[in-house]
Order: sequence, then C-alpha cells, then structure tokens
Amino acid sequence: MKHHYLGLAARKKGAWRSLFVHGSKHDLNHLKIYLEERYQGEAMLTKNGRSALALALKGYFNKGDKVIVNGFTCYAVFEAVKAAGLMPVFADISKENLNFTVETLLKVADGAKGIIVQNTLGNPVDIEAIERFAKERGLLIIEDLAHSAGINYKDGREAGTVGVATALSFGKDKSIDTISGGAVIFRAPRKHEIQAPTKAPKKSDNFRARFYPMAGAMCRGLSYVHLGGVVMKLFLKLKMVEKSADNRLDLIVRPAKFEAKLALEQLKELKNEPPLREFYLVRSRDEVLKKLKKAGYYFDGFWYEKPISPARYYSKVHFPEADCPNAVVVAETIINFPTHYKKAELEAARKIVKEYL
Ligand SMILES: *Cc1c(COP(=O)(O)O)cnc(C)c1O
Repeated sequence: MKHHYLGLAARKKGAWRSLFVHGSKHDLNHLKIYLEERYQGEAMLTKNGRSALALALKGYFNKGDKVIVNGFTCYAVFEAVKAAGLMPVFADISKENLNFTVETLLKVADGAKGIIVQNTLGNPVDIEAIERFAKERGLLIIEDLAHSAGINYKDGREAGTVGVATALSFGKDKSIDTISGGAVIFRAPRKHEIQAPTKAPKKSDNFRARFYPMAGAMCRGLSYVHLGGVVMKLFLKLKMVEKSADNRLDLIVRPAKFEAKLALEQLKELKNEPPLREFYLVRSRDEVLKKLKKAGYYFDGFWYEKPISPARYYSKVHFPEADCPNAVVVAETIINFPTHYKKAELEAARKIVKEYL
C-alpha cells in the first residue's frame, strides 16, 4: 500500500489562533477573489462543503436528475444531492485508490446526467479516462475537493480545474480545515440562477468552530492518560463542540469572517503539500483500534466505517450493497490516520497496523 502523508501546517499553528483570530469583511472578499483565480470561475462562499456541493448541483441539473456518487463517501454528499432535488446513484470503488473507475461507472451510467468526482482521501481519480467517459455520455463533472484541495491529477492539472463546478469544504479534518465553511466555484455558465449566501453565521456556531481545535488538542493531550474520549463526550454534551456530520446544510448562510481568513492562509500553503489521509485495509480492525488507543492515539473516528458514513445515518441512504461489493469490504477493513498527528508521531501507529495487513 502506498504511503500518504498529510500536512495541515496552517492549522497546526494553533488552537489559540483559531480562538482569537480576527477576521474582517475584506477576508471574505479576498478569499472569493483568490478562489476565482485559482479555479477559474465565479466563487460563492458557503456555510460548509455540503451546501457548496448542493449549490453546484442546483446550478447545472434539473430536479429529479440522476447523478453518480462515489460508493464510499460521507453522508454530507448524499445530503447535498438530496437537497438539490436530485437522485444519487452509487458506483463501486477500487480498493487501490477508493474511487470509482470507468468500469464501475459504466454499470450505473444509464440515464445519469452528472458525476461527482471525489478523489477519496486525496487519492486522485483517473481523470483522463473519466473525462473521456463523461464526454461520450454527455455527463457533467462536478469536483468535490473536500479530500483533495491542492492535489494534481496524473496529467498535471490541479484538482478543481476540470469540471463545470468545484466544491470545497473547510470542515474538520478536510484538506482545508477551519472547522466549518466552504465554497463553490461555477466554472461554466449555469443552467439555473443561484443566489450567493450572504447571511452571517450564528455567534454560537462561530464559538463552536473557534473552540474545536482547542478541544481537539486537549483531548489528544489527555489521551495519553486515556481521558481524551471522555472529555470530548463532555464537550459534545455541553454543546461546546459539534460532530462534523451534524453541521447543517444551509444555502443562505456564509462562512464566518475569521474562517475566510484562515481558509485563505491554508489554501495558499496547499501548493506544495497535498494533504492526504494514509490508509490501510486491515484484519481485525477492532483489535487494531484498541491497540492504537492503548498506545495513546486519539482517533475521533476514521473515514469511513460504512460505505456512506457515519453509521448512524447509514440506514437513510438505502445503499445498494450488492452492487458495490468493494465499498462494503473497504468500509469493514479500512483504517486511516487523523490529519492532526505529525509524521513522526504516527510511526508507532504504523507499526501496529502493519501486523494486521
Ligand atoms: C465532509 C465532506 C463533504 C462536506 O463537508 P462539510 O463541510 O462537512 O459539509 C463533502 N464531500 C466529502 C467527500 C466529504 O468528506
């Protein structure tokens, strides 16, 4: 298995920074302009990634259209497709890179109008093959960069510069991580008019976003005395933090100003260091997780324990397991490392995992 490594340098600058950084309305504007130059289109800033994706879909598809979704993904993607009034169809994945392939697309492409390319955990899809396929079939490509902002495809093009629209998430543990926020870039003329979100986010949501990096740092610190999980549960109960899967889709709220400021800093740093989650497919995953916990690692979940995660939303999806056997196996065996450990800190974790390959 390939080794992947991720660097979220900007985020590591600190939990304190996130708590107290001051943003202004210029930061919203600067971020928008930067995105428009980098991804060559018209940008809108959104509350989170799923809202960005929903706006992208609404811009180019009609109600009831079928769009193809990677068969191993986050519930947020399903939610976005539904919010746009579209019908998701799931394509099975390759175990090598966790993405659909032309072969698996072929099985579900009949009658579909679009494809959401995801570059799972930062592993690029075979974009040339997929683009050719999409052209032949008249499918529009939407690129979802939640996992893959800053990466390049094999042919040298940057992810996000291929499809008709590009959606970014600035959510927890995503390539750009300001805890919440997102953006959509419309790269081709839209079919339907879309209003840019302009409503300021709630103060309580801003507090939760500012506090989360500190909460995470505290829990990682406490995990060496096996208290990380307990303390995070307490923060959740007190509503001082929120699980990322519960961040609501909302098409009229924009990100906070400080989030725009942090997102822009991180985007600029992405150039040379694509963020990726290192993954392995293991036997006896529960045992591996127990060992990792014992070794002092704090994993607040890995991606993904169900083909469409988190597990508590899975039954709503009616996922076609029989048609996506690889996705089912991968969801049962995958383990991947959180983005907030440094390379050296993960050495012991790697050693544990390698005994179970
Ligand atoms: C998390 C995620 C999103 C949406 O992100 P939010 O900011 O949490 O709404 C979209 N696509 C993928 C693949 C994701 O993992």
